[in-house]
Amino acid sequence: MFCGQRKAIVDPGPKSAIPNLLSALAELNMSPDEIDYIILTHIHIDHAGGAGTALRDMPRAKVLAHGQAVRHLVDPTKLWEASLKTLGDLALQYGSIEPVPEDRVAVATDLMTIDLGRGLVLEVHLTPGHASHHLSLFDRENSILIAGEAAGVCVNGVIRLATPPPFRLDETLSSIDRLISLEPKTLCYGHFGCYGNAVERLRLARSKLLRWYETVGSAAGQGRTAEEILVLLKEKDRDLDYLDSLGQDAYRREHDLLINSINGLGQSARGDA
Ligand SMILES: [Zn+2]
Repeated sequence: MFCGQRKAIVDPGPKSAIPNLLSALAELNMSPDEIDYIILTHIHIDHAGGAGTALRDMPRAKVLAHGQAVRHLVDPTKLWEASLKTLGDLALQYGSIEPVPEDRVAVATDLMTIDLGRGLVLEVHLTPGHASHHLSLFDRENSILIAGEAAGVCVNGVIRLATPPPFRLDETLSSIDRLISLEPKTLCYGHFGCYGNAVERLRLARSKLLRWYETVGSAAGQGRTAEEILVLLKEKDRDLDYLDSLGQDAYRREHDLLINSINGLGQSARGDA
């Protein structure tokens, strides 16, 4: 949430999260009709599935998203089908995707600035990789980077890559390099939280990506399954020990997302080979 004279919400979440979002606004003594923008880092269901639903309560708000994403917001049929296919029951828990009316969505272009007033300006940086339609936001004045999932996610303080198919290594590395060049002080993840030492975190995500890509690529080339590769990755990257401390539901979710990431890296490595 960014508040200048105008107010913007970044990634409202899936439909199931919108009641919580509205309660959080109420706790801030803010009315939903004060919201001017809903900005989407990308349109995966967990980030953007609730945008159409949220708009019902936010009569002034306009949705800003990557040019490739707009048609899927207006007609979310394919997005919903892809979510069901990739996430199964989890997509049902997130809830269906209501369309965004065409006249309430605008394209966020590269290097566009969103002026919220009172000196608060968000710069748009297109950062394909996690998704081809991914963008990041940079508040230069306060040196805060909203990275969505361009530099992985942070679970229990640990960086975990998010590289689902279709994944492109070159694009992702370029995107991370671009974010490093902004020299942000604070890095906010789509999942979960904001941290200092932003550049160090971006560099760590970059080096981890190269290490995982090599491990997954060579193991996939030997015909290992994604489950076998996860065991191998866990031996090589002790950060993945966080999996051992998770409860059953959280473990299942992380496990499935990791398998998805391994599939993305494996397919990408086979394509490069
Ligand atoms: Zn995503």
